[in-house]
Amino acid sequence: METAEIRRRWLRFFESKGHTVVPSAPLVYDDPNLLFVNAGMVPFKPYFLGQQTAPWPRATSVQKCVRTLDIEEVGKTTRHGTFFQMNGNFSFGDYFKEGAISHAWELITGSQDDGFLGFDPGSIWVTVLDGDDEAADLWHRVAGLPQERIQRRGLADNYWHMGVPGPGGPCSEIYVDRGPEHGPDGGPVVDEDRFLEIWNLVFMQEELSEVRSKVDFDITGELPRKNIDTGMGLERVAYLLQGVDNLYEIDEVYPVIERAEELSGRSYGAGHEDDVRFRVVADHVRSGLMLMGDGVTPGNEGRGYVLRRLLRRAVRSMRLLGVHDAALPELLPVSKDVMRTSYPELERDWGRISETAYAEEEAFRRTLASGTTILDTAVARAKKAGSSSLGGDEAFQLHDTYGFPIDLTLEMASEQGLTVDEEGFRSLMTEQRQRAKADARAKRSGHGGSGAYRALADRLGGEVEFTGYEQMAGQA
Ligand code: ATP
Ligand code: MG
Ligand code: MG
Ligand code: MG
Repeated sequence: METAEIRRRWLRFFESKGHTVVPSAPLVYDDPNLLFVNAGMVPFKPYFLGQQTAPWPRATSVQKCVRTLDIEEVGKTTRHGTFFQMNGNFSFGDYFKEGAISHAWELITGSQDDGFLGFDPGSIWVTVLDGDDEAADLWHRVAGLPQERIQRRGLADNYWHMGVPGPGGPCSEIYVDRGPEHGPDGGPVVDEDRFLEIWNLVFMQEELSEVRSKVDFDITGELPRKNIDTGMGLERVAYLLQGVDNLYEIDEVYPVIERAEELSGRSYGAGHEDDVRFRVVADHVRSGLMLMGDGVTPGNEGRGYVLRRLLRRAVRSMRLLGVHDAALPELLPVSKDVMRTSYPELERDWGRISETAYAEEEAFRRTLASGTTILDTAVARAKKAGSSSLGGDEAFQLHDTYGFPIDLTLEMASEQGLTVDEEGFRSLMTEQRQRAKADARAKRSGHGGSGAYRALADRLGGEVEFTGYEQMAGQA
Protein backbone atom coordinates (compact mmCIF):
# COMPACT_ATOMS: atom_id res chain seq x y z
CA MET A 1 0.00 0.00 0.00
CA GLU A 2 1.41 3.37 -1.02
CA THR A 3 2.33 5.81 1.73
CA ALA A 4 -0.03 8.38 0.22
CA GLU A 5 -2.84 5.80 0.40
CA ILE A 6 -2.19 5.05 4.08
CA ARG A 7 -2.33 8.76 4.72
CA ARG A 8 -5.66 9.03 2.88
CA ARG A 9 -7.08 6.08 4.81
CA TRP A 10 -5.99 7.62 8.09
CA LEU A 11 -7.68 10.93 7.41
CA ARG A 12 -10.81 9.33 5.98
CA PHE A 13 -11.13 7.02 8.99
CA PHE A 14 -10.87 9.76 11.58
CA GLU A 15 -13.05 12.09 9.57
CA SER A 16 -15.72 9.37 9.60
CA LYS A 17 -15.35 9.36 13.39
CA GLY A 18 -16.20 13.04 13.66
CA HIS A 19 -12.69 14.52 13.58
CA THR A 20 -11.93 17.77 11.77
CA VAL A 21 -9.04 17.40 9.33
CA VAL A 22 -6.38 20.01 10.12
CA PRO A 23 -3.54 20.56 7.59
CA SER A 24 0.06 20.05 8.68
CA ALA A 25 1.74 23.05 10.23
CA PRO A 26 5.10 24.01 8.66
CA LEU A 27 8.20 22.38 10.16
CA VAL A 28 9.27 25.75 11.48
CA TYR A 29 6.61 26.73 13.90
CA ASP A 30 6.12 29.57 16.28
CA ASP A 31 7.38 27.79 19.38
CA PRO A 32 10.56 29.20 20.92
CA ASN A 33 11.35 25.92 22.66
CA LEU A 34 11.58 23.90 19.49
CA LEU A 35 13.94 23.88 16.54
CA PHE A 36 11.37 22.05 14.45
CA VAL A 37 7.94 20.57 14.94
CA ASN A 38 8.69 17.12 16.30
CA ALA A 39 5.24 15.71 17.04
CA GLY A 40 1.70 16.00 15.75
CA MET A 41 0.49 17.69 18.92
CA VAL A 42 2.78 20.72 18.68
CA PRO A 43 0.31 22.96 16.81
CA PHE A 44 -2.38 21.98 19.32
CA LYS A 45 -0.34 22.79 22.43
CA PRO A 46 -2.33 25.91 23.40
CA TYR A 47 -5.47 23.75 23.60
CA PHE A 48 -3.83 21.12 25.74
CA LEU A 49 -2.30 23.74 28.00
CA GLY A 50 -5.70 25.36 28.42
CA GLN A 51 -4.47 28.68 27.00
CA GLN A 52 -7.04 28.54 24.22
CA THR A 53 -10.25 26.64 23.66
CA ALA A 54 -10.06 24.17 20.80
CA PRO A 55 -12.45 25.12 18.00
CA TRP A 56 -13.41 21.45 17.61
CA PRO A 57 -13.84 18.59 20.08
CA ARG A 58 -11.90 16.21 17.80
CA ALA A 59 -9.19 16.78 15.21
CA THR A 60 -6.87 14.76 13.01
CA SER A 61 -3.76 15.61 11.01
CA VAL A 62 -0.73 14.26 9.21
CA GLN A 63 2.01 16.44 10.61
CA LYS A 64 5.45 16.94 9.09
CA CYS A 65 8.08 16.30 11.77
CA VAL A 66 11.85 16.57 12.09
CA ARG A 67 13.71 15.06 15.04
CA THR A 68 17.33 16.13 15.18
CA LEU A 69 17.84 13.75 18.11
CA ASP A 70 17.30 10.86 15.72
CA ILE A 71 19.87 11.92 13.09
CA GLU A 72 22.52 9.58 14.44
CA GLU A 73 20.09 6.66 14.33
CA VAL A 74 19.36 7.06 10.65
CA GLY A 75 20.30 4.05 8.59
CA LYS A 76 21.45 2.10 11.64
CA THR A 77 18.02 1.27 13.03
CA THR A 78 15.21 0.26 10.73
CA ARG A 79 12.82 2.87 11.97
CA HIS A 80 14.19 6.40 12.40
CA GLY A 81 13.90 9.11 9.80
CA THR A 82 15.13 12.64 10.39
CA PHE A 83 12.01 13.82 8.60
CA PHE A 84 8.87 11.79 9.03
CA GLN A 85 5.13 12.22 9.09
CA MET A 86 3.10 11.71 12.22
CA ASN A 87 -0.54 10.82 11.85
CA GLY A 88 -2.47 12.11 14.82
CA ASN A 89 -5.93 12.02 16.29
CA PHE A 90 -6.80 14.40 19.09
CA SER A 91 -9.64 14.72 21.54
CA PHE A 92 -10.04 17.94 23.45
CA GLY A 93 -12.09 16.98 26.47
CA ASP A 94 -14.15 14.64 24.31
CA TYR A 95 -13.54 10.86 24.09
CA PHE A 96 -10.87 9.37 26.32
CA LYS A 97 -9.07 6.04 26.78
CA GLU A 98 -11.79 3.77 25.54
CA GLY A 99 -12.42 5.85 22.44
CA ALA A 100 -8.72 6.12 21.64
CA ILE A 101 -8.14 2.40 22.05
CA SER A 102 -11.18 1.29 20.09
CA HIS A 103 -10.46 3.70 17.21
CA ALA A 104 -6.87 2.47 17.06
CA TRP A 105 -7.86 -1.16 17.10
CA GLU A 106 -10.48 -0.72 14.40
CA LEU A 107 -8.16 1.14 12.03
CA ILE A 108 -5.19 -1.19 12.53
CA THR A 109 -6.96 -4.51 12.28
CA GLY A 110 -9.94 -3.75 10.03
CA SER A 111 -9.78 -5.34 6.61
CA GLN A 112 -7.86 -3.57 3.84
CA ASP A 113 -10.73 -4.31 1.47
CA ASP A 114 -12.96 -2.15 3.66
CA GLY A 115 -10.51 0.76 3.77
CA PHE A 116 -8.62 -0.11 6.99
CA LEU A 117 -4.98 -1.12 7.44
CA GLY A 118 -5.42 -4.85 7.79
CA PHE A 119 -2.77 -5.84 10.34
CA ASP A 120 -3.02 -9.35 11.73
CA PRO A 121 -4.49 -8.95 15.26
CA GLY A 122 -2.16 -11.73 16.38
CA SER A 123 0.88 -9.57 15.59
CA ILE A 124 -0.11 -6.66 17.83
CA TRP A 125 1.48 -6.00 21.22
CA VAL A 126 0.94 -3.00 23.45
CA THR A 127 2.59 -1.38 26.45
CA VAL A 128 0.83 0.54 29.21
CA LEU A 129 2.12 2.44 32.21
CA ASP A 130 2.66 0.17 35.17
CA GLY A 131 -0.36 0.98 37.32
CA ASP A 132 -2.65 2.03 34.49
CA ASP A 133 -4.97 -0.95 34.91
CA GLU A 134 -7.74 0.95 33.18
CA ALA A 135 -5.79 0.96 29.90
CA ALA A 136 -4.69 -2.64 30.30
CA ASP A 137 -8.29 -3.74 30.93
CA LEU A 138 -9.52 -1.82 27.91
CA TRP A 139 -6.95 -3.48 25.64
CA HIS A 140 -8.16 -6.79 26.91
CA ARG A 141 -11.86 -6.01 26.75
CA VAL A 142 -12.11 -3.83 23.61
CA ALA A 143 -9.41 -5.46 21.52
CA GLY A 144 -9.39 -8.92 23.03
CA LEU A 145 -5.64 -8.77 23.50
CA PRO A 146 -4.35 -11.56 25.72
CA GLN A 147 -2.68 -10.42 28.95
CA GLU A 148 0.77 -11.56 27.80
CA ARG A 149 0.71 -9.12 24.91
CA ILE A 150 -0.10 -6.18 27.21
CA GLN A 151 3.23 -5.22 28.75
CA ARG A 152 3.79 -2.79 31.61
CA ARG A 153 6.51 -0.20 31.73
CA GLY A 154 7.65 2.57 34.04
CA LEU A 155 7.46 6.34 33.87
CA ALA A 156 10.55 6.70 31.70
CA ASP A 157 8.88 4.87 28.84
CA ASN A 158 5.17 5.32 29.35
CA TYR A 159 4.49 8.70 30.87
CA TRP A 160 4.15 11.92 28.94
CA HIS A 161 4.35 15.59 29.92
CA MET A 162 5.66 18.75 28.32
CA GLY A 163 8.52 19.33 30.70
CA VAL A 164 6.66 22.22 32.32
CA PRO A 165 3.72 22.49 34.72
CA GLY A 166 0.56 21.56 32.85
CA PRO A 167 -1.08 18.42 31.56
CA GLY A 168 0.49 14.98 31.78
CA GLY A 169 -0.55 11.39 31.72
CA PRO A 170 0.25 7.80 30.95
CA CYS A 171 0.65 6.57 27.43
CA SER A 172 0.13 3.29 25.69
CA GLU A 173 2.21 2.24 22.72
CA ILE A 174 1.27 -0.13 19.95
CA TYR A 175 3.83 -2.49 18.42
CA VAL A 176 3.79 -4.91 15.52
CA ASP A 177 5.68 -8.20 15.71
CA ARG A 178 7.75 -8.47 12.53
CA GLY A 179 8.44 -12.13 13.17
CA PRO A 180 11.03 -14.39 14.82
CA GLU A 181 13.57 -13.83 12.04
CA HIS A 182 13.96 -10.26 13.36
CA GLY A 183 14.84 -11.01 16.98
CA PRO A 184 14.02 -12.83 20.19
CA ASP A 185 10.56 -13.49 21.64
CA GLY A 186 9.31 -11.51 24.60
CA GLY A 187 7.61 -8.45 23.17
CA PRO A 188 8.74 -4.83 22.94
CA VAL A 189 10.23 -4.78 26.43
CA VAL A 190 12.78 -7.27 25.11
CA ASP A 191 13.38 -6.14 21.53
CA GLU A 192 12.27 -2.95 19.78
CA ASP A 193 13.61 -4.00 16.43
CA ARG A 194 11.55 -7.14 16.01
CA PHE A 195 8.62 -5.47 17.77
CA LEU A 196 8.21 -2.21 15.90
CA GLU A 197 6.56 0.73 17.63
CA ILE A 198 3.98 2.23 15.30
CA TRP A 199 1.64 4.28 17.44
CA ASN A 200 1.65 6.12 20.74
CA LEU A 201 -1.60 6.95 22.53
CA VAL A 202 -1.26 9.61 25.21
CA PHE A 203 -3.94 9.88 27.85
CA MET A 204 -3.71 13.39 29.29
CA GLN A 205 -5.49 12.96 32.56
CA GLU A 206 -3.72 14.88 35.28
CA GLU A 207 -2.35 18.28 36.14
CA LEU A 208 1.33 18.59 37.06
CA SER A 209 2.37 21.43 39.34
CA GLU A 210 6.08 20.92 39.10
CA VAL A 211 8.27 18.99 36.70
CA ARG A 212 11.84 18.28 37.72
CA SER A 213 12.65 15.67 35.10
CA LYS A 214 11.04 13.14 32.81
CA VAL A 215 10.29 10.85 35.74
CA ASP A 216 10.22 13.27 38.65
CA PHE A 217 7.18 15.54 38.97
CA ASP A 218 4.28 16.41 41.26
CA ILE A 219 0.72 15.55 40.30
CA THR A 220 -1.82 18.01 41.70
CA GLY A 221 -4.97 16.24 40.63
CA GLU A 222 -7.12 15.08 37.76
CA LEU A 223 -7.73 17.36 34.80
CA PRO A 224 -11.32 18.56 34.62
CA ARG A 225 -11.31 17.83 30.89
CA LYS A 226 -9.19 14.90 29.82
CA ASN A 227 -7.53 14.90 26.41
CA ILE A 228 -6.24 12.41 23.90
CA ASP A 229 -3.11 12.97 21.82
CA THR A 230 -1.88 10.18 19.57
CA GLY A 231 0.91 9.83 17.05
CA MET A 232 1.37 7.10 14.50
CA GLY A 233 4.49 6.95 12.33
CA LEU A 234 3.27 7.01 8.74
CA GLU A 235 6.57 5.72 7.35
CA ARG A 236 6.66 2.89 9.88
CA VAL A 237 3.24 1.67 8.87
CA ALA A 238 4.26 2.05 5.22
CA TYR A 239 7.35 -0.04 5.72
CA LEU A 240 5.33 -2.83 7.27
CA LEU A 241 2.53 -2.71 4.72
CA GLN A 242 4.93 -2.50 1.79
CA GLY A 243 6.67 -5.65 2.97
CA VAL A 244 10.11 -4.04 2.96
CA ASP A 245 12.84 -4.27 5.55
CA ASN A 246 13.04 -0.76 6.88
CA LEU A 247 11.84 2.81 6.63
CA TYR A 248 14.35 3.75 3.94
CA GLU A 249 12.93 1.25 1.49
CA ILE A 250 9.42 2.67 1.24
CA ASP A 251 8.02 4.27 -1.89
CA GLU A 252 8.71 7.82 -0.67
CA VAL A 253 12.39 7.17 0.09
CA TYR A 254 13.75 4.24 -1.91
CA PRO A 255 13.87 5.90 -5.36
CA VAL A 256 16.72 8.08 -4.06
CA ILE A 257 18.64 4.96 -3.05
CA GLU A 258 18.11 3.56 -6.53
CA ARG A 259 19.43 6.73 -8.14
CA ALA A 260 22.44 6.66 -5.80
CA GLU A 261 23.09 3.08 -6.85
CA GLU A 262 23.12 4.09 -10.51
CA LEU A 263 25.43 7.01 -9.84
CA SER A 264 27.85 5.02 -7.72
CA GLY A 265 27.76 1.75 -9.61
CA ARG A 266 27.47 0.04 -6.22
CA SER A 267 24.56 -2.08 -5.06
CA TYR A 268 22.35 -1.48 -2.10
CA GLY A 269 22.20 -4.69 -0.06
CA ALA A 270 25.77 -5.74 -0.80
CA GLY A 271 27.31 -4.68 2.50
CA HIS A 272 26.37 -3.06 5.78
CA GLU A 273 28.63 0.00 5.58
CA ASP A 274 27.48 1.03 2.15
CA ASP A 275 23.87 0.29 3.02
CA VAL A 276 23.98 2.74 5.91
CA ARG A 277 25.45 5.34 3.52
CA PHE A 278 22.71 4.75 0.97
CA ARG A 279 20.07 5.17 3.69
CA VAL A 280 21.68 8.30 5.07
CA VAL A 281 21.75 9.76 1.57
CA ALA A 282 18.08 9.03 0.96
CA ASP A 283 16.95 10.19 4.39
CA HIS A 284 18.99 13.39 4.43
CA VAL A 285 18.09 14.38 0.88
CA ARG A 286 14.42 14.03 1.72
CA SER A 287 14.72 15.82 5.08
CA GLY A 288 16.68 18.61 3.44
CA LEU A 289 14.07 18.92 0.72
CA MET A 290 11.24 19.23 3.24
CA LEU A 291 13.13 21.74 5.39
CA MET A 292 13.99 23.92 2.42
CA GLY A 293 10.39 23.58 1.29
CA ASP A 294 9.39 25.19 4.57
CA GLY A 295 11.82 28.03 4.08
CA VAL A 296 14.90 26.93 6.03
CA THR A 297 18.20 27.99 4.44
CA PRO A 298 21.63 26.55 5.25
CA GLY A 299 23.59 28.48 7.85
CA ASN A 300 25.96 28.19 10.77
CA GLU A 301 23.49 28.30 13.60
CA GLY A 302 20.33 26.74 14.84
CA ARG A 303 17.94 25.53 12.17
CA GLY A 304 20.17 26.52 9.29
CA TYR A 305 22.99 24.48 10.75
CA VAL A 306 20.83 21.38 10.99
CA LEU A 307 19.94 21.75 7.32
CA ARG A 308 23.55 22.38 6.37
CA ARG A 309 24.64 19.32 8.26
CA LEU A 310 22.02 17.15 6.57
CA LEU A 311 22.91 18.29 3.07
CA ARG A 312 26.62 17.98 3.70
CA ARG A 313 26.27 14.56 5.23
CA ALA A 314 24.33 13.43 2.18
CA VAL A 315 27.08 14.73 -0.10
CA ARG A 316 29.81 13.15 2.03
CA SER A 317 28.02 9.83 2.09
CA MET A 318 27.88 9.93 -1.71
CA ARG A 319 31.65 10.53 -1.75
CA LEU A 320 32.15 7.54 0.48
CA LEU A 321 30.11 5.64 -2.09
CA GLY A 322 32.63 6.78 -4.67
CA VAL A 323 30.68 9.64 -6.27
CA HIS A 324 32.73 12.81 -6.45
CA ASP A 325 30.61 14.77 -8.92
CA ALA A 326 27.85 17.04 -7.68
CA ALA A 327 25.20 14.71 -6.27
CA LEU A 328 22.25 16.84 -5.26
CA PRO A 329 21.24 17.81 -8.81
CA GLU A 330 20.84 14.07 -9.43
CA LEU A 331 19.14 13.13 -6.16
CA LEU A 332 16.97 16.03 -5.03
CA PRO A 333 14.65 15.97 -8.07
CA VAL A 334 14.02 12.27 -7.46
CA SER A 335 12.94 12.98 -3.90
CA LYS A 336 10.79 15.90 -5.00
CA ASP A 337 9.04 13.75 -7.60
CA VAL A 338 7.95 11.20 -4.99
CA MET A 339 7.05 13.72 -2.29
CA ARG A 340 5.00 16.06 -4.47
CA THR A 341 1.96 13.77 -4.43
CA SER A 342 1.40 14.72 -0.80
CA TYR A 343 3.15 18.11 -0.94
CA PRO A 344 2.38 19.79 -4.30
CA GLU A 345 3.94 23.04 -3.06
CA LEU A 346 7.37 21.44 -3.57
CA GLU A 347 6.77 21.70 -7.31
CA ARG A 348 5.69 25.32 -7.03
CA ASP A 349 8.77 26.26 -4.97
CA TRP A 350 11.19 24.02 -6.83
CA GLY A 351 13.25 26.88 -8.31
CA ARG A 352 14.03 28.33 -4.91
CA ILE A 353 14.61 24.95 -3.25
CA SER A 354 16.91 23.54 -5.90
CA GLU A 355 18.99 26.72 -6.16
CA THR A 356 19.49 26.75 -2.39
CA ALA A 357 20.55 23.11 -2.34
CA TYR A 358 22.87 23.23 -5.31
CA ALA A 359 24.61 26.37 -4.05
CA GLU A 360 25.17 24.68 -0.70
CA GLU A 361 26.73 21.66 -2.34
CA GLU A 362 29.03 23.86 -4.41
CA ALA A 363 30.16 25.73 -1.30
CA PHE A 364 30.77 22.46 0.49
CA ARG A 365 32.77 21.09 -2.42
CA ARG A 366 35.07 24.10 -2.21
CA THR A 367 35.42 23.61 1.56
CA LEU A 368 36.27 19.96 1.11
CA ALA A 369 38.77 20.69 -1.63
CA SER A 370 40.75 23.06 0.53
CA GLY A 371 40.42 21.32 3.88
CA THR A 372 40.88 17.68 2.97
CA THR A 373 44.58 18.01 2.21
CA ILE A 374 45.14 19.75 5.53
CA LEU A 375 43.21 17.08 7.36
CA ASP A 376 45.10 14.29 5.62
CA THR A 377 48.41 15.89 6.51
CA ALA A 378 47.36 16.20 10.15
CA VAL A 379 46.23 12.58 10.19
CA ALA A 380 49.50 11.39 8.67
CA ARG A 381 51.45 13.45 11.20
CA ALA A 382 49.49 12.03 14.12
CA LYS A 383 49.89 8.48 12.90
CA LYS A 384 53.61 8.94 12.39
CA ALA A 385 53.93 10.26 15.92
CA GLY A 386 52.14 7.13 17.13
CA SER A 387 49.14 9.11 18.32
CA SER A 388 45.58 7.93 17.90
CA SER A 389 44.14 11.41 18.22
CA LEU A 390 44.11 14.72 16.35
CA GLY A 391 44.87 17.80 18.41
CA GLY A 392 42.17 20.28 19.40
CA ASP A 393 44.24 23.02 17.78
CA GLU A 394 44.23 21.18 14.47
CA ALA A 395 40.46 20.71 14.60
CA PHE A 396 40.16 24.37 15.47
CA GLN A 397 42.29 25.45 12.56
CA LEU A 398 40.26 23.31 10.19
CA HIS A 399 37.15 24.97 11.52
CA ASP A 400 38.47 28.49 11.59
CA THR A 401 40.39 28.61 8.35
CA TYR A 402 38.72 25.99 6.20
CA GLY A 403 35.18 26.01 7.49
CA PHE A 404 35.22 22.39 8.61
CA PRO A 405 32.49 21.89 11.19
CA ILE A 406 33.72 19.76 14.07
CA ASP A 407 31.47 16.85 13.25
CA LEU A 408 32.98 16.70 9.77
CA THR A 409 36.46 16.57 11.27
CA LEU A 410 35.32 13.92 13.74
CA GLU A 411 33.75 11.85 11.01
CA MET A 412 36.68 12.11 8.61
CA ALA A 413 39.22 11.43 11.35
CA SER A 414 37.33 8.39 12.53
CA GLU A 415 37.26 7.01 9.00
CA GLN A 416 41.04 6.95 9.33
CA GLY A 417 40.89 5.38 12.77
CA LEU A 418 41.62 8.52 14.78
CA THR A 419 39.77 10.35 17.51
CA VAL A 420 39.86 14.13 18.00
CA ASP A 421 40.60 16.08 21.14
CA GLU A 422 37.14 17.58 21.24
CA GLU A 423 37.58 19.15 24.61
CA GLY A 424 40.62 21.05 23.40
CA PHE A 425 38.68 22.12 20.32
CA ARG A 426 35.73 23.32 22.40
CA SER A 427 37.83 25.37 24.75
CA LEU A 428 39.49 27.10 21.79
CA MET A 429 36.03 27.76 20.37
CA THR A 430 34.84 29.19 23.67
CA GLU A 431 37.85 31.46 23.86
CA GLN A 432 37.17 32.68 20.35
CA ARG A 433 33.50 33.24 21.05
CA GLN A 434 34.26 35.21 24.18
CA ARG A 435 36.65 37.38 22.25
CA ALA A 436 33.98 37.96 19.59
CA LYS A 437 31.37 38.79 22.21
CA ALA A 438 33.64 41.24 23.95
CA ASP A 439 34.33 42.90 20.58
CA ALA A 440 30.65 43.11 19.77
CA ARG A 441 29.84 44.55 23.17
CA ALA A 442 32.50 47.16 22.69
CA LYS A 443 31.06 48.03 19.28
CA ARG A 444 27.47 48.28 20.48
CA SER A 445 28.55 50.52 23.32
CA GLY A 446 25.26 51.40 24.85
CA HIS A 447 22.87 50.53 22.04
CA GLY A 448 20.20 48.09 23.17
CA GLY A 449 19.96 46.46 19.76
CA SER A 450 17.25 43.97 18.92
CA GLY A 451 17.18 42.26 22.27
CA ALA A 452 14.36 39.86 21.56
CA TYR A 453 15.98 38.71 18.37
CA ARG A 454 19.31 38.23 20.05
CA ALA A 455 17.74 36.26 22.86
CA LEU A 456 16.12 33.97 20.32
CA ALA A 457 19.31 33.58 18.36
CA ASP A 458 21.18 32.76 21.55
CA ARG A 459 18.62 30.17 22.44
CA LEU A 460 18.57 28.54 19.04
CA GLY A 461 22.11 29.18 18.05
CA GLY A 462 25.60 28.15 18.80
CA GLU A 463 27.82 25.61 17.15
CA VAL A 464 26.22 22.82 19.07
CA GLU A 465 22.75 21.86 17.98
CA PHE A 466 20.02 22.97 20.27
CA THR A 467 17.90 19.99 21.08
CA GLY A 468 17.24 20.63 24.73
CA TYR A 469 13.49 20.65 24.81
CA GLU A 470 12.92 18.25 22.01
CA GLN A 471 12.28 15.12 23.97
CA MET A 472 10.09 16.73 26.54
CA ALA A 473 7.90 18.56 24.09
CA GLY A 474 7.49 15.53 21.87
CA GLN A 475 5.77 12.38 22.85
CA ALA A 476 7.14 9.78 25.21
P1 ATP B 1 11.17 5.26 19.08
O1 ATP B 1 11.08 4.67 20.46
O2 ATP B 1 11.06 4.24 18.01
O3 ATP B 1 12.32 6.19 18.92
P2 ATP B 1 9.39 7.27 19.99
O4 ATP B 1 8.83 6.56 21.18
O5 ATP B 1 10.49 8.23 20.19
O6 ATP B 1 9.85 6.17 18.89
P3 ATP B 1 7.01 8.86 19.82
O7 ATP B 1 7.61 10.07 20.41
O8 ATP B 1 6.13 8.01 20.66
O9 ATP B 1 8.19 7.97 19.19
O10 ATP B 1 6.25 9.30 18.48
C1 ATP B 1 5.03 8.73 18.03
C2 ATP B 1 5.24 7.86 16.80
O11 ATP B 1 5.97 8.54 15.78
C3 ATP B 1 6.05 6.61 17.09
O12 ATP B 1 5.23 5.60 17.59
C4 ATP B 1 6.61 6.27 15.72
O13 ATP B 1 5.68 5.52 14.97
C5 ATP B 1 6.78 7.63 15.05
N1 ATP B 1 8.18 8.09 15.08
C6 ATP B 1 8.86 8.62 16.12
N2 ATP B 1 10.12 8.96 15.79
C7 ATP B 1 10.24 8.64 14.47
C8 ATP B 1 11.29 8.77 13.53
N3 ATP B 1 12.48 9.32 13.85
N4 ATP B 1 11.08 8.34 12.27
C9 ATP B 1 9.88 7.80 11.91
N5 ATP B 1 8.84 7.67 12.75
C10 ATP B 1 9.01 8.09 14.02
MG1 MG C 1 12.47 8.10 19.72
MG1 MG D 1 9.48 4.60 21.85
MG1 MG E 1 6.83 6.30 21.61
